Amino acid sequence: MIKIAAFGGYSKIGKSMTIIDVDGEMVITDMGADIERLVDYEDDKSYISLKDTEALAQNGVIPDDREFFRKHGKEVKAIVLTHGHLDHIWAAPFLAAKYHCPIIATQFTTKVLEHLMRNVKQHNLRILTLNPRIKYRLSKDISIEFVHMTHSIPNTAISVVHTKYGAVMYANDWKLDETPTLGKRPDYERLEEISKEGIHSLILDSTNVDQDGYTFSESIVRTMLEDVIKKTLSNKTIFITTFSSHIARIKNIVEISKKLGRQVMIFGRSMEMYLKAAADTKIIEKGKFPDVAVKRDRINEFLKYVRDRPGKYVIICTGHQGEKGAFLDKLTTGQYDYKLGSDDAVIFSSRVIPTALNIANRNMLQKALDDLNVNVADNIHVSGHASRNEHKLLLKMLRPKHYIPSHGGLDKISSGIEMGKELGYELNKSSHILLDGQELVFD
Ligand SMILES: [Zn+2]
Repeated sequence: MIKIAAFGGYSKIGKSMTIIDVDGEMVITDMGADIERLVDYEDDKSYISLKDTEALAQNGVIPDDREFFRKHGKEVKAIVLTHGHLDHIWAAPFLAAKYHCPIIATQFTTKVLEHLMRNVKQHNLRILTLNPRIKYRLSKDISIEFVHMTHSIPNTAISVVHTKYGAVMYANDWKLDETPTLGKRPDYERLEEISKEGIHSLILDSTNVDQDGYTFSESIVRTMLEDVIKKTLSNKTIFITTFSSHIARIKNIVEISKKLGRQVMIFGRSMEMYLKAAADTKIIEKGKFPDVAVKRDRINEFLKYVRDRPGKYVIICTGHQGEKGAFLDKLTTGQYDYKLGSDDAVIFSSRVIPTALNIANRNMLQKALDDLNVNVADNIHVSGHASRNEHKLLLKMLRPKHYIPSHGGLDKISSGIEMGKELGYELNKSSHILLDGQELVFD
C-alpha cells in the first residue's frame, strides 16, 4: 500500500512537505517555509531561534507536523530535500532533528541547509549528501535516488522512492532547460530507465502548467541581459537585482559585465549565503567572483568608488521584490552614501512573485526610482518552472500510473488535471487532486 499525504505546498505555494508512506515505512520530501508568513513573523522578531518552533508552526510559517510526529515519528526513515529554495528547506532545522533519521540532499542543498542550521544554532541533524544516480537503501523494501533536473538553483533533483509497487517520484520544482548556462540538461536517460522499470506515481510542480508553450532556457536570459547591458549608456552605473539563489543568473551577469569592460560588485546578505554555498561546492570559482559586501560601512566604502567612476561598474544586489531592508530599498530611501539619479540604471532580472505584499512593495520601489529619474528595465527574466508543453513531454516520457499535480493552488492543480486528460489521465482514477491536509491511498 502506498499513501501520499500533503502537509504543505499543494493548496498554495510555500511550506512544501509531503509524506510518502510505503507499507508503513515513511519518507518525508521537503520541509519548507511559507515565505509570506515568514516575512510577517520576522517583522516582529529580531532573531528567530529553535525556541520559536512551536510558534512558527502555529503561525503557519512551517508545516505543523506535531500530531503526525506523535503518531508516526518512528516510522520515518528519511527526510529528502530536493533543492535549496527556502519554501522547500527552511523548516528542516526546526522540524527534522526529532525524527532521528538522515536528511538526504544533493551537495548545494546540503551547504544551504548547513547555513540555515548555523543561523538557528541547530547542530543535531544527520545530513547525508547523495549525488544523482546513486541509490541509497533505507530498508530492505525501499531506497532513495535523485535524478538531476533543471530549475533556477543548482543541484535540483527529482526525488525517487523505489518501492515494490514502482517508483514514487516527486518533482518539485522543475523545468526542462535544453541549454542551461550552469550544470547539465535534465537526466533524460535515467528518467527513461526509471520509466521502463515502472512508475507508480508522479507528484509534479504545476506552478506554470497553465502557461501555454514552453518556458525558455536560461541561455535566453543571458542573451537578454547582454543586450540590455550593452544598450545602457556607457556613462551610466548599472544596478542589477535578481534572485540570490539563482547562481547561474549571477554568474552570467558577472561574466557579461566583465566582457563589456565593467567591474562587478555584489551586495546583500542572501547573496553572500548562496554564493558561499556555490563556492564551497565548486559550482563557481571563488577567485572569479568579487567578495560580497554586506555591512553598511563596507558597502559605503565600495559605493564611493562607484560614485567617482560612473559607468564603470555593475552592481549585483538584493531587493527585486521591493523587500524592506534589502539593498535596493535602502538605496532608494537614502540609507547609503550614494544618491541615485539619472546617471544610474536599475535592471530587474526578476519578476514580481504576485503576493499582495510584494506587489505593494515593488510599486513603491518603482515610484521611488521614477521620482529619482533612474533608467529602469524590468522582467529580464525567465521562469524556473515548466510550462504546459514541458509537462506533456515529461508525462509522456515517464508514463506514471498516477499523476498528482502540486505546488500552486487549486487553480494550477486543475489546469494540470485538464492537461493530463489530453494524455489519457482520468480524474480520480489515474490523476488526483491532493490539497494540504489530505492524503491519497493506493491499495
Ligand atoms: Zn524552487
